[in-house]
Amino acid sequence: MIPFEKGQDEFANDIREYAGINFNTCLHCKSCTNGCPFLEGMDYAPNAVIRLVQLGQEEAALNSSTIWVCVGCNTCSSCCPMAIDIPAVMDGLRKKALEKKIKVPEPDILNFHTQVLNTIKKYGRTHKLEIMMRYKLKKMDFLSDMGLGLKMLKKRKLDLTPSKIQDKSAIEKLFRKKKQFPKK
Ligand code: SF4
Ligand code: SF4
Repeated sequence: MIPFEKGQDEFANDIREYAGINFNTCLHCKSCTNGCPFLEGMDYAPNAVIRLVQLGQEEAALNSSTIWVCVGCNTCSSCCPMAIDIPAVMDGLRKKALEKKIKVPEPDILNFHTQVLNTIKKYGRTHKLEIMMRYKLKKMDFLSDMGLGLKMLKKRKLDLTPSKIQDKSAIEKLFRKKKQFPKK
């Protein structure tokens, strides 16, 4: 058995409680990794991230690009013989990285997530045009993809005005009910 150093077990426990799953049953069979469509963009394979968390390797796990590249498509968990919810682990790691103000290795991905969530918060739905405009504004990149954007507008794939849901209270409740790490 590999002994934990100070704080390592706390990190693993936090992620386990947040994700609500026991990743210690992982067999390291790599089925998740073999099925992941985004593996090429990752620094650690999905099963390696699980291993880092099991071993309490907080710094490596929280600085990993994998936790941001993962799109939560669930391909991995549907292949997993132990039914481990890997996207929930990635979600817990992203939250922990943000709480600890760790420099995000994929800032564009975080920017995109933020803009998507902002339109959902505002309208109860996504508004693609606003997401892309705010995303580009934050990046100070106004010209790339311009041609594609105009094509999409012409084909009416982008709505100029957002459509809003009538009762936003359920959405507001969801945003208020953010999942938290266990209080110490
Ligand atoms: S598929 Fe499941 S059991 Fe196999 S390595 Fe991935 S998480 Fe572990
Ligand atoms: S949920 Fe994430 S880790 Fe799993 S297959 Fe999809 S991108 Fe890969």
